[in-house]
Amino acid sequence: MGSFADFHARSINDRDAFWAEQAKLVDWKVQPQQICDYSNPPFAKWFVGGQTNLCHNAVDRHLVDRADQPALIFVSTETDQEKTYTFRDLHAEVQRMAAILQDLGVVKGDRVLIYMPMIAEAAFAMLACVRLGAIHSVVFGGFASHSLATRIEDASPKVIISADAGSRGGKGVPYKPLLDEAINLSAHKPANVIMVDRKLAAFTPVASRDVDYATERAKHMDTVVPCEWVDATHSSYTLYTSGTTGKPKGVQRDTGGYTVALAASMPHIFQGKPGGTFFCTSDIGWVVGHSYIIYGPLIGGMATIMYEGLPIRPDGGIWWSLVEKYKVNVMFSAPTAIRVLKKQDPALLTKYDLSSLQALFLAGEPLDEPTAKWISEGLNGKAIIDNYWQTETGWPILSICNGVEKAPSKFGSPGKAIYGYNVKLVDDQTGEELTGANQKGVLTIEGPLPPGNLQTIWGDDERFVKTYWKTVPNKLVYSTFDWAVRDEDGYFFILGRTDDVINVAGHRLGTREIEESIASHPNVAEVAVVGVADALKGQVAMAFAVLKDPSKAGTPADALKHEGEIMKLVDEQLGAVARPARVRFVALLPKTRSGKLLRRAIQAVCEARDPGDLTTMDDPGALQQIKDLVTG
Ligand code: ATP
Ligand code: MG
Repeated sequence: MGSFADFHARSINDRDAFWAEQAKLVDWKVQPQQICDYSNPPFAKWFVGGQTNLCHNAVDRHLVDRADQPALIFVSTETDQEKTYTFRDLHAEVQRMAAILQDLGVVKGDRVLIYMPMIAEAAFAMLACVRLGAIHSVVFGGFASHSLATRIEDASPKVIISADAGSRGGKGVPYKPLLDEAINLSAHKPANVIMVDRKLAAFTPVASRDVDYATERAKHMDTVVPCEWVDATHSSYTLYTSGTTGKPKGVQRDTGGYTVALAASMPHIFQGKPGGTFFCTSDIGWVVGHSYIIYGPLIGGMATIMYEGLPIRPDGGIWWSLVEKYKVNVMFSAPTAIRVLKKQDPALLTKYDLSSLQALFLAGEPLDEPTAKWISEGLNGKAIIDNYWQTETGWPILSICNGVEKAPSKFGSPGKAIYGYNVKLVDDQTGEELTGANQKGVLTIEGPLPPGNLQTIWGDDERFVKTYWKTVPNKLVYSTFDWAVRDEDGYFFILGRTDDVINVAGHRLGTREIEESIASHPNVAEVAVVGVADALKGQVAMAFAVLKDPSKAGTPADALKHEGEIMKLVDEQLGAVARPARVRFVALLPKTRSGKLLRRAIQAVCEARDPGDLTTMDDPGALQQIKDLVTG
């Protein structure tokens, strides 16, 4: 094991040699001729001239060494199903799905939209697409017609693969009526829809458009569908960002760079070993699900658990029982899920044998200290590794890379810049690079972005360039739109999004700092702070908190007492400038379906403005509650 600093330096200073080495982790039909073509910035082309296939690397390649080892472990606590597919089984199922797509005329470059719950067939569908060189676009199953329609229009798929229903808390959630409605709304119409019928919700197929998966599959039990070798730069999929800050962006990913990036991340970041088991609790509708439920673990020769169900059903120990049962080595989840578990009996954490588990990775939003402490103590000293990334990047930007060199974690920090990422903190006013310790700047990445990152925004190169790239003195940098500081040891701390800064009488304050201060009140479970226009001060902070025990603030007098205590806390911890003008109590906060706080929507409502694109919002009731409070 060498030093991480050297490893990282080589990835930047000797970029092509570094990535040529990582490229050996994957199978190529034709070796790349050029590692990185950055002749047309900011567009980077990786492994030019190389030909490969994502499905080959995830599945076929392992048939030699591990055909009979588990590849996909499907567990549904919704329908009480549990089924393990070996690499051999997975290979067969993927070919069957690919054969059905071929029958429907799908060829390389065609788009296929996948609107499915967390079932094994969704994994077959994704792998079948990339096997054929078709570009998949997975839309999170929780989205309704309108959001789905805009994505159908944007991706213009030849075929859609869907199911009759998902399930939540043991109740079927029909998908088909939403899909039919979405296709009606969309100007683009798919030629065919493949329906996986789970028999959870009856539906009427649309004649000459809908085909039944089981019927078609039965025709192809032994059909051989070879992998289509594609150029490294061929697009593998498109996927939308969460839409936390505005209209979602359709991220377009390549094939070769993505395969190499994920293959390299398995040993270096996750320390996942072939033959081991990976359990990522995300959803295939998100980037974490693409990279670490499906592609990453399989490329690394690991079994992957695909879990359909809630984290607390039948009880809050379900995930840990799976860790015990399947000897999970690496687990990946999100702080929002851990906060859900935190409300359960802590004894559930010690009930199971977790000795196989090496580490729990968490990403997607800030990992607050109380949550980090709770899970860290509960898992009795196992490594809890916060890592920071975006849909755009496809794999982490910041983390501890224990596979390169063991390093301690610091509470509140997702670690250091990962190899391949030339991270720069930039002053948002002057554009100057901030090189000193503990200076606050915008986290940017100097081009070229490393392998696996977005190629462009689907169908909109101009939006890609305009949205993300800017020239700071002598450099073209990609902006993450997140604030950060870096300490003396190179550890980064994410301070929030650049549009989550409020300006109170000339003082620029991050909403996250205020939120953390408020969250330290013993009865606060969760809180959102937004800046609201104020004639006198420019902006003032407004806080909306969810209480752990709402009954304690049941009466107006109790609520006022809580509000006073919280303001005093903020005064003491941050100073009076940061004190919110009001602290209001709500039952829940508006979030995206991926679990991120929708501050922009709260802010708009507080300022009596149109909240804009709300298609990614989870529960509209949460925003309505805030609306009622501020207008009431
Ligand atoms: P949109 O770009 O459409 O507004 P989004 O940024 O929420 O939505 P994602 O790509 O799902 O879409 O989320 C990436 C963002 O999530 C990051 O830019 C950052 O703000 C936040 N994030 C991810 N991981 C972490 C982490 N470990 N710590 C703090 N923030 C994180
Ligand atoms: Mg974003």
